[in-house]
Amino acid sequence: MQVLEGNSTFVQNAFIPAIPDILNSPIEYLKGVGPQRADLLKKELNIFTFNDLLNHFPHRHVDKTKVSFIKDIHPDTDYIQVAGTLHNIDVVGIKKGKRLVATLRDKTGSLELAWFQGVSWIQKYLQNGEEYLVFGRVSFFQGRPQIVHPEMEVLTAEKIDGKSFLEPIYPTTEKLRSKALGGRQIGKLAETMMKLISEKDLPENLPDHILQKLKLVSRFKAYTQIHFPTTPQEFDEAVRRLKFEELFIAQLRMARLRSQRHRFSHGVKFEKVGDLFNTFYTKYLPFELTGAQKRVIKEIRKDTGTGKQMNRLLQGDVGSGKTMVALLTMLIAADNGFQSCMMAPTEVLAQQHHKNITFLLKDMNVDVGLLTGSTKTGERKQIQQKLDDGSMHILIGTHAIIEKNVQFKNLGIGIVDEQHKFGVAQRAMLWEKNEIPPHILVMTATPIPRTLAMTAYGDLDYSVIDELPPGRQPITTVHRYEKDRSKVMGFLKEEIAKGRQVYIIFPLIEESDKMDYENLMKGYENVKAWFPEPKYWISMVHGRQKSDQKNINMHRFVTGDTHIMVSTTVIEVGVDVPNASVMVIESAEKFGLSQLHQLRGRVGRGADKSYCILLTGPNIGNDARERMKIMTSTNNGFIIAEKDLDMRGPGDIEGTRQSGVLNFKLASIVQDRPMLETARQFAEDIVTTDPELTSAENLRIKSYLQAIQGKTAWSRIS
Ligand code: ADP
Ligand code: MG
Repeated sequence: MQVLEGNSTFVQNAFIPAIPDILNSPIEYLKGVGPQRADLLKKELNIFTFNDLLNHFPHRHVDKTKVSFIKDIHPDTDYIQVAGTLHNIDVVGIKKGKRLVATLRDKTGSLELAWFQGVSWIQKYLQNGEEYLVFGRVSFFQGRPQIVHPEMEVLTAEKIDGKSFLEPIYPTTEKLRSKALGGRQIGKLAETMMKLISEKDLPENLPDHILQKLKLVSRFKAYTQIHFPTTPQEFDEAVRRLKFEELFIAQLRMARLRSQRHRFSHGVKFEKVGDLFNTFYTKYLPFELTGAQKRVIKEIRKDTGTGKQMNRLLQGDVGSGKTMVALLTMLIAADNGFQSCMMAPTEVLAQQHHKNITFLLKDMNVDVGLLTGSTKTGERKQIQQKLDDGSMHILIGTHAIIEKNVQFKNLGIGIVDEQHKFGVAQRAMLWEKNEIPPHILVMTATPIPRTLAMTAYGDLDYSVIDELPPGRQPITTVHRYEKDRSKVMGFLKEEIAKGRQVYIIFPLIEESDKMDYENLMKGYENVKAWFPEPKYWISMVHGRQKSDQKNINMHRFVTGDTHIMVSTTVIEVGVDVPNASVMVIESAEKFGLSQLHQLRGRVGRGADKSYCILLTGPNIGNDARERMKIMTSTNNGFIIAEKDLDMRGPGDIEGTRQSGVLNFKLASIVQDRPMLETARQFAEDIVTTDPELTSAENLRIKSYLQAIQGKTAWSRIS
């Protein structure tokens, strides 16, 4: 994408600078700031320019005419404004404990005020016996209410009798507060600045038809009203407008990237579906494809036949059969004389893909290679030779594939399995494996809610496999407590007696965490005690093992030599052992929803009835309890993903963390989902009808986009 972003053929002269000079003025030039306070504003709040201050929004407004009585303070009181006389100003304590204290008294009671920083400076300004208007957050010290670092103003009649108005209170820091730049004082600066800014400094950037349809206030009005509303409604209007702008601009940029790629990118062309695909499809396909698999293959087929580069995200719940879609795609590439590669996040998974695909293609003339970190040098050389002369059609492996020294003769498509384990940068390296960038298919089994997908991956085309292969029995999920352990173990014995295999997973979230590791070892001993040899055999796999050891253990489980797989989450992705029918998750409360769902997806892959047992201690928190409830009530990965998003917020969703695209200032992709959908729709319509934004109405968006180019995190997306 960077290629496109930087391509100046899409960019024409700017018409209106989006950030005019006044807004670019250094903050020290604002009256009342000066060099010292400017330094603090920069350090503490990242406010360097007028524009930064303009975008430093108040987090609340208080009705300045509302003054409470001290007696009304109760344990739940948050911020409060009181008025009274100041007494007992005194400096107490020494060194670090040194602080300035004073008592504020009104006719109903008294309240302690305290300052820990800027003591001597503040002391100079305070007068015993003077009346003050005091604002701040109430805390309790030894059962008595106090305000630390309150904001103080000498009380004048006009201040309480004046007309009702909403005073903005800004986010600030303790340090700034001690230098008289509290949440209220920053408002004074904002007020000074707003007087200097006029409508022409904040030109409208949304087309009129959108403003009208959605009844949005103008950009200038929105900025004025978010700082200085005269009514709560005005504030709401301002927030709504600015939120929409954020979402719309984001969606528009994504839609444009996609559209530019569709129109201008150069890609390898898969002209036909040939013998390899057809032979495999008619003779060796072991099952009928699901409708969803067929649809996705058609979408891919269409994309790759245009001569433009495909960049597609394929989402499908665990077990939905993404591997087969990948294989069929790679056969189309081979039919057109192109090579393909498929990257998996772990060695275990790469080997498994290699094994399955080799088996499926055993009677066909297709050469499939495997390249991982543990491939020996000699073998590596052989692979490289076959890649060079074009005799190897398909290369499967880990990230070893994208290393610089691995070269292809003519790579037509790169497939990334279980995308969330790879960074954006690694994906970008695939682009460089061919002169004309290869098609990219990114597959993920961590369902991402639609709204999130269209935000984080909005520049990719998007396919979903929303159907599971027929004949699968839904997995029964239960939540059991530690006290039920012997029953659970008894159940496992019954299943093993029926010829099934079981997984027991321990939470080794960070492979480096010593405690977790010790827990795993203890857990393993415990499992051994329940399931003694030689009646039962156990495999164990974890991240600290050498890959040989891991492979042997894995292999023994896959071939049915061992009954039980004790493992950490390294087993989480992709592993396919259809005979395994029970997944036990120890300390299940320590896992997030999508991880639990991934783990559960390791069973229920065969025709047998499967179970997932979530084991927890007796006392788990509310959130954990909620997660258990969700897991036991649905098998649908997309519903789980939505719930996960609701519970954790977007910051923690796998695969989006590094993208930095979800950090909206005002909008929340959880709470503002309907608005996000609307923004997307408008963005799509505009890009479809006027991709270059040349119509009179769209020119203002265009110049705005040009002006902010390079100023946001967007250019980092690939
Ligand atoms: P995932 O989407 O999680 O990667 P896999 O590709 O591993 O899923 O497929 C899960 C299992 O379902 C595999 O054993 C695969 O052979 C099987 N499978 C895939 N597609 C179908 C289908 N259309 N009908 C029956 N079984 C299928
Ligand atoms: Mg898979």
